[in-house]
Formats: sequence, C-alpha cells, structure tokens
Amino acid sequence: MRVIFGAGGLRQLRDEAERLGLRRLLVLSTPGQRALAQQAATLLGDRCAGMFTEARMHVPVQVAEAARAAARDAGADGCLAIGGGSAIGLGKAIALTSGLPLIGVPTTYAGSEMTTVWGLTEDGRKRTGRDRAVLPRSVVYDPELTVGLPVDMSVTSGFNAVAHAVEALYAPDASPIVSLMAEEGVRSLVAALPVIAADPGDMGARTHALRGAWLCGACLGATTMSLHHKLCHILGGTFDLPHAAVHTVLLPYVAAFNLPAAPAAEQALRRALATDDVAKHLARASAELGAPRSLADLGLTVPDVDDVIAQAQDQPYANPRPVAAEALGFLLSAALQGTLAP
Ligand code: NAD
Repeated sequence: MRVIFGAGGLRQLRDEAERLGLRRLLVLSTPGQRALAQQAATLLGDRCAGMFTEARMHVPVQVAEAARAAARDAGADGCLAIGGGSAIGLGKAIALTSGLPLIGVPTTYAGSEMTTVWGLTEDGRKRTGRDRAVLPRSVVYDPELTVGLPVDMSVTSGFNAVAHAVEALYAPDASPIVSLMAEEGVRSLVAALPVIAADPGDMGARTHALRGAWLCGACLGATTMSLHHKLCHILGGTFDLPHAAVHTVLLPYVAAFNLPAAPAAEQALRRALATDDVAKHLARASAELGAPRSLADLGLTVPDVDDVIAQAQDQPYANPRPVAAEALGFLLSAALQGTLAP
C-alpha cells in the first residue's frame, strides 16, 4: 500500500483522493474527532460526499450497518477514515461488504491501517477476520495529528503497538525482516513515550512514536497473532473494556508466560528495551507513565475471568506454548490483580 509519512501530510489528502480516482469520499470519525473530520472534509472539497462521525470502539454491527447505509445514501465511491482504530475499523467494515476503497489517516498508535484484519462486535462477541478488501489503499501518517492525543491515550496506544511487535516476534509466520521491524518498533515507541508524557507537543517524539506505530502495525499485518491478541479481543468485545488499556495491562503477563518458550523473541525484546526482564520492564514502564496497573483497574471482576477462559478455549489460536485452562486462569488472575506492577 502507499504511505505518506510526515508532518503536514494531511494537506495532501485531496491529491491522494485524486490519485486513487475517488470523487465522492465519505469521511469517517468517532464523535470526539468530528472537528478533525470536518477539517479533512474541507481539505477534500468537492471530493467529499458526506461525513459519518459515529464510529465506536470494537465496531458494533449496528454502527457498521448505519455507516454502510450512509455510504450508500451519499453515493460514496470510497471512504476516508480519520482517527484511531475505531474510525479505521469502521472504514474496514464498509469496505468488507461493499469493496469501497479506504484512505486511512491514523491519529493513534493502534496500527489497524496496516492490516487486512477487520473486527465486528455483536451480542457481546467480537468476530475478526482477514480480507484484502479492507486494507487501506493509502495511509497518511501525519504526526501533527497526534499532538492532541492525551498522554494517557498516547501511552496505552503506544503499548498497544508494542504488543503487536511482541506477538510478531514469536508468531508462527515470523520472518527475519518482520523481526527487525518489530524490534525497531518497540525501541522507537518505548523511547518516545516518556518524552511525550513530559511534553505532549514534542514533535520529534511524536514523529518517532508514529514511526514506531507504523512498524508495529506492519508487523501485525504481516503475521498471525497469538494468545495476547486473542485475550484482548475477548476482553474488549465481551466487557467493552478500552482496547489500548487492556493491551497495556495484559502484555507483561502474556510476555512472562510466552517468552520462556520463544528465546529469539525474548532476546530481541531484551535488546529493544535494554533489560534482562522483559515482562517486569513492560509493567514498570507503563505504570511509571501513569497507565492502569491491573484488569481490576479497568473494571474486570473475578467471575468475568471464567467467561474469558471459556471463550479462549473455544476457538483455536496460535501460541508458542500450549495454554491449558489452569495456566490461563493463573495468568488472568495475576493480570486482574496487577501482580507485576511496581
Ligand atoms: P479509538 O480509535 O477508539 O480512539 C480512542 C479515543 O481517542 C476516541 O475517543 C477518539 O476520538 C480519540 N482520539 C483518537 N485520536 C485522537 C487524537 N489524535 N487526539 C485526540 N483524541 C483522539 O481507539 P484505538 O485504541 O486507536 O483503536 C481501538 C480500536 O481499533 C478497537 O476496536 C480495536 O479492536 C481496533 N484495532 C484494530 C486493529 C486491526 O488490525 N483491525 C488493530 C488495532 C486496533
């Protein structure tokens, strides 16, 4: 896919639409980013056919249906999704059933714009799949758009990206090139996040973080995800927990469980994080930047854990080591209590 990376990239939107031959774009965003969506619509000028600004996390099917209808009613020949994974995910939901080309303008570090993965949530269950039709034709990474991302979201979204890289390093279809990207993605993000926390307007750090997110998103797109992503999908879809925060809290526990069975991945992460204890380092680094420390902090309760285990056991997924129900129970109980947090 085509990528434009750099401050001020947003101003190239109209040229991108023209290059793709798109004359009637529907602009998509979450309600919180309506003003930015309006800015994109203005930049598109007469190539904008309308706006749909009701994107929601985990793409509820009702929202997807409403957006598909909006695209039909507007006679859209493509969509432009501006925002985090929720806006991009909505554009993918439209592309999945209509084939409408998507332009992605990410404003978080979630990485969805780099993948063929779509997700839809119905009756408390999140379904995901892969389809080339949902991969954006063009992605505009403009670090200026991330300056307004609050520090707490920047931190958790950054660790969401790190989680893609961690699982790419031990994926069954990992490759030497993807592993290099993953290691560098982790290094970039973990170096940039403390600078952003101290000064959210630091353009150097914002650029570095977005570059890391691009690398990590590309790793997610290139490999099969394992236990960590499976659990995050269940936790997000069933309990409507905030996606990036769940990734941030859970990652150290899955890393502690999986890395002993994935020595090359562990070595890469030790280098990227400059530590001997990857799991503890991840837990400490996010907590020091103010991230939630436990799944209980996010609202999960002890009885919920059994539901998560049952769902995880229900569907097969890749993992570097087998995951018995009992081991999963220990892992989730530890994450629920935040035992690795300082
Ligand atoms: P999000 O898109 O819901 O954004 C979180 C909040 O931050 C929203 O209220 C949004 O309006 C606001 N926001 C976003 N960017 C902002 C900015 N620059 N300034 C100020 N506010 C901003 O959250 P997310 O974590 O980016 O995405 C989560 C969703 O993406 C989940 O549904 C997840 O499943 C999906 N996802 C999918 C993939 C994939 O490959 N399919 C990958 C990663 C995430």
